[in-house]
Order: sequence, then structure tokens, then C-alpha cells
Amino acid sequence: MRDSLLLKERLMNLTDLPWPRISSLAPDTPIVFPVAAIEQHGHHLPVATDSMLLAEVVRRVQLLLPSGSALFAPLQWLGNSDHHLHFSGTLSADPRGYIDLLNRLMDNAIQHGFRRIVFLNGHGGNDIPGRQAVFETRQRYRQRDDLLLLFTTYWDHAKPGETRGDLVQNYMGHACEWETSMIQAIRPELVGPVAELPDVPAGFAFEPAYRGWITDDRTTLGHIGAPRHAAPEKGEHLFECYARGVAAFLGRIAEWKGAGAFSED
Ligand SMILES: [Zn+2]
Repeated sequence: MRDSLLLKERLMNLTDLPWPRISSLAPDTPIVFPVAAIEQHGHHLPVATDSMLLAEVVRRVQLLLPSGSALFAPLQWLGNSDHHLHFSGTLSADPRGYIDLLNRLMDNAIQHGFRRIVFLNGHGGNDIPGRQAVFETRQRYRQRDDLLLLFTTYWDHAKPGETRGDLVQNYMGHACEWETSMIQAIRPELVGPVAELPDVPAGFAFEPAYRGWITDDRTTLGHIGAPRHAAPEKGEHLFECYARGVAAFLGRIAEWKGAGAFSED
């Protein structure tokens, strides 16, 4: 059983396949680029938190999807984390550099014949440059009518509070109840003490405007949310919800008949 699950994971990873097999999967197989970050996650979580969490979501999604229904590129750990740079350990591509990197990955995939390209994101700071990148690539290939270029974040694919009543937060924060719970579920030995950490409210002030910010504007310790309420069972629930949500979303992409960018037929 375990061997067949490992084999299934391997069949879905671009890095495990020879080029003729990859070539045969294009053009209709969705190619998924998981994108995350290495950045500070408060006093109690490792800097690789976003990358570790997204890798676990991807692992679970692969077990849920039919074999061969999507091809996964290796996780890109370098994200846009300039807003965290004054905290040690943060590694960041500046926003323009990050946009260019994602544009180039789409060029590569299109060159190899792929038409359904999905960035699966696990870090809030990638969101704005990621959307900009898919927008820019669409403009550069404007003569094409067969491309589906998507940028999406895993925690937008489930509402975990609807199926579990003890979650204190109702949003994804940063090094918060939710992220701390998920690291507790997979790497508990890496989580520092949380009982004394103060709750840090989310929100930007001046909404609905979007405020330019650095992390110091919002938190001095580095977390946003309520990590003291974390528990590994909550983390397991979050992973389950997100893996199911993302798998369903990728299924929609695989079923897309290519009728046009604004149609799901
Ligand atoms: Zn995070």
C-alpha cells in the first residue's frame, strides 16, 4: 500500500520524470508550481513554515488526485518577503524580481506545450506579485486563446471554521493559531512555547483601502493572530480541509474544456 502511494506521488512530480514522459503530458495536464517562502514566523515557528506547510498540502493533494491528473513542479521556496526583511533569517526576492521569476516559469511551461498553468501559493506576500505575473504573461501571449494562467492560495480553498467549532481565529494570520497548529501536526519538535504569546489583531486600518506596510507596522514579535490557541488536532483538520479544497480546484482545471478564458466549459 505504502509503495503504491509513493509511486503515485512520484508519477506526479516533474523532477521524477524523464523528458519524453513530461512531453507526453502536455498540453492538457495542469502543471502546478507550488510557491512559498522562507521568512520569519515569530519567536516560536521556523522560518521555513510556509514552505513546510505548502509541501504537506501538496503531498496530501497528490494522494487525493487520480494519478497523472496534474504535474507538480518542485516547490519554490524563494518568495517575496521584503516586508519581513528586518527579521533575521528572512530570504526574499524583491517584488519585481519575483514577478519576473514567475513570468519566466510560465514561459518555460508554455515553451514545453503546457496550457494550464497554476501557481499554488502558501505565502501572503506572494499574492499581489503573483497575480501581477499571471496578468503580465497573459498580455505577452495575447494572441493565444488556449491558455489558462492561474494564481491561487491554498487557504482560500476551504472554510475550516464551518466544520470545527473550536477555532478561535476565522482567518489565516501569520505564525498564528492556524499555522502553529499545522506545524504542531507535522513537526511538533520545531514549535517553541506559545502559552505566553500575546494575541496580535489582524487588519490594516483604513480599510477598505490597501495600506502599504512592513511587518513592524503590525507586530513587534513577528506573529499576527492568536498562536496560544494552537493544537495539533486543529492542524490536522486544517490540512484535511485545505487538501480536499485544493484537490477539488485542480479537478476543475483538469476538466476545463478550453472554451475560453472566462468560461469553465
Ligand atoms: Zn506563514
